[in-house]
Amino acid sequence: MKIAPISEELFQRAQHSIPGGVNSPVRAFRAVGGNPRFMVSAKGPYMFDEDGNRYIELINSWGPMILGHAAEVVQEAVLKAIPNSLSFGAPTRKEIEIAELIVDMVPSIEKVRMVNSGTEATMSAVRVARGYTGRNKMIKFEGCYHGHGDSFLIAAGSGAITLGVPDSPGVTQGVAADTLTAPYNDLEAVKRLVEANKDQVAAIILEPVAGNMGLVLPEQGFLQGLRDLCTKEGIVLIFDEVMTGFRLAPGGAQQLFGVTPDMTTLGKIIGGGMPVGAYGGKKEIMNFVAPAGPVYQAGTLSGNPIAMSAGMAMLQYLQSHPEVYTNLEQTTSNMVNGMKQNMQELGMNYTINHVGSMFSIFFTEQPVTDFESAKTSDTTMFGRYFNSMLQHGVYLAPSQYESLFVSTAITDDLVQEYLQANREALQEASR
Ligand code: PLP
Repeated sequence: MKIAPISEELFQRAQHSIPGGVNSPVRAFRAVGGNPRFMVSAKGPYMFDEDGNRYIELINSWGPMILGHAAEVVQEAVLKAIPNSLSFGAPTRKEIEIAELIVDMVPSIEKVRMVNSGTEATMSAVRVARGYTGRNKMIKFEGCYHGHGDSFLIAAGSGAITLGVPDSPGVTQGVAADTLTAPYNDLEAVKRLVEANKDQVAAIILEPVAGNMGLVLPEQGFLQGLRDLCTKEGIVLIFDEVMTGFRLAPGGAQQLFGVTPDMTTLGKIIGGGMPVGAYGGKKEIMNFVAPAGPVYQAGTLSGNPIAMSAGMAMLQYLQSHPEVYTNLEQTTSNMVNGMKQNMQELGMNYTINHVGSMFSIFFTEQPVTDFESAKTSDTTMFGRYFNSMLQHGVYLAPSQYESLFVSTAITDDLVQEYLQANREALQEASR
């Protein structure tokens, strides 16, 4: 039984000086009940809290820690870069090297601009798509999350659904009017929207595998259908690969599914745990970005040398160790198959979605293919399951509407430990 009085005290204190006591909403555990744990350190598959509790990690900083926490290859690169200055605000060789590596790895990217977060990447990509096409409207999908830029906070996933505010106050009607939404996996609905807004749609943006309404996979033909539609209608197709980039394959979901968008947004793994994002795509589109072209986008700390060093070390490692992906796939399959076996033995039939090193359990018996079906999950039961797993020393995302991320630090022994916890938590959650 894990008790956490120090975390509890810190959470009380945090609420006096930080809104809701946290710097990003889902961390607050509001959807699952209980108090967040305050962390002091992490290594490999584990995080350790202020009370000295150890947790097996399945969030991995919401994705970046694909090699587990404090990966030596990344830490060494950071330590080596520190003495040369924390920031120059002037160009460096390292920025060219990482750009060349990204161009080499990600099929759709011919030119890339580094930014500081996934949010900046998506906001900038849509601005560029609008500048390039001379059109204003954008289509996004219900339950997809693209960061907290105004125009994306319409039917948004992740923390926005978790806290019940998929349409945020503070977003003007003018901005909202330019964002059109369609159900995920519904190509016909997208075609209808495009037809009804002929020659007005600048971009279609989506997570090629959605991770922000829980994990939802694209159905056969959905991505290719969008590709064909965008080509026909002169719309910029943007894959938001902030989660899936470098995770599902070295070249992301676009490599895995063999569909190449016009633009791609990246984050998380690309910084190895440092605050980094990037957007890139076809040369003719990226040449619209200042100072090459008229669409303005800038950043004081963009291309920061410490962040670039961490990202470079991470990407080089992933590119030169393709076995990472087969190993992660195997570990994750073992976890998912073990969970299915647990459920079968307990007479349960909940839905698990899974691809590569990402998975989600939904407390519903129906297939989950879009936001509507994701919402059939029993979130109260998820809350009980989450808290039981926490008590068994497994740290999950504190929301039904998130994906879990497996790292290479999860050994076979830890898979067994995880499955034992899963079995007990399933029983406890259904009482
Ligand atoms: N896009 C996707 C698909 C994401 O999952 C996220 C964050 O989880 C973002 C964009 C926003 O990235 P950031 O939180 O770095 O701003």
